[in-house]
Amino acid sequence: MISYQIIEHGKPLQKVLKETPKPTGTEVLVRITRSGVCHSDLHIWDGYFDLGGGKRFYVKDRGCVPPFTMGHEPFGVVEALGPKAKGVRVGQKRIVFPWIGCGKCPMCKAERDNYCTAMRTIGVMRPGAYSTHLLVPHPKYLVDAAGIDEAFAATLACSGVTAYSAARKLTDLVAQDSVAVIGCGGVGLATIAVLRALGVRNVIACDVDEGKLAAARQFGARLTLDTRAPDAVQKLQGLAKGSLGGVIDLVGMPATAQLGLAALRKGGRYVLVGLFGGELQHPLPSFALRAIGISGSYVGSLPELREVVALAKKKKLKKMPLSTRPSSEVNAILEELKAAKVLGRVVLDFETAAA
Ligand SMILES: [Zn+2]
Ligand SMILES: [Zn+2]
Repeated sequence: MISYQIIEHGKPLQKVLKETPKPTGTEVLVRITRSGVCHSDLHIWDGYFDLGGGKRFYVKDRGCVPPFTMGHEPFGVVEALGPKAKGVRVGQKRIVFPWIGCGKCPMCKAERDNYCTAMRTIGVMRPGAYSTHLLVPHPKYLVDAAGIDEAFAATLACSGVTAYSAARKLTDLVAQDSVAVIGCGGVGLATIAVLRALGVRNVIACDVDEGKLAAARQFGARLTLDTRAPDAVQKLQGLAKGSLGGVIDLVGMPATAQLGLAALRKGGRYVLVGLFGGELQHPLPSFALRAIGISGSYVGSLPELREVVALAKKKKLKKMPLSTRPSSEVNAILEELKAAKVLGRVVLDFETAAA
């Protein structure tokens, strides 16, 4: 198999030829056809996440030590099965759920792998999908995506399920409610698309970039807010006509948290996804008196991936602008992503390269 590996953090990935692994036990070998390039891959490539305030999170502390193969948006064809791998056949096309846990704890047994304390995420802690072949520990992590464009299907494994899981945490909305989405990059647009697919009519897109707000309108946001406005809280409440039932924050800095929490109606919920960083100071009694909730949201669960795939199959999800490019261009793509030259998502094509 051919993999594009980090040999040294921040340096170009190297094309490495290795023996294709043979699946044992419940393992499934998937031949990758499409592999999404996620913005967070840039951090894994660099070797750390900048958490703000001078704090860094080093990926080596999570077991990501070079040589390492990134890629957590895998799509491909089942090529071989271990003797105990049941429920899937050679030749079937599948999305691979990457956010896998230990497989043994109560959370994993309940298919809440994203709450496992010993995660083995594909492309983050174990070899990923920048490769012609991927070994998956169990067939349950394979999700049928028949009828969905393969490149789009790949992106559902990360941005799609992240957006869906965040949106599903807004459980108490009423018909008049608006929902604010703060941060309209890739996951923000996916979140707007998911909210609309789930029937939320009034989505208010919030960002500091006029171009991103324009994209958010195209994705179904009814209203937009430039959050640099000094009276952004009052403006957001006004746009929501006093009924802001939910906020999904894809940025996650003190200013966005304060904006979201302050603008919520009583009983509303603030969902935090973004990892920009910083600390929040907030008077405690207001949480109780206004009955507002804070919920963190980290990627999503396997059932949530199946649900967002079902939405996509019904053609209810608006698709991100996607470009599919040969896997051999991976280094150029990472550089373009770093220079913020990529509009929408890039998905690697491993089929043409392997042919
Ligand atoms: Zn990702
Ligand atoms: Zn577990």
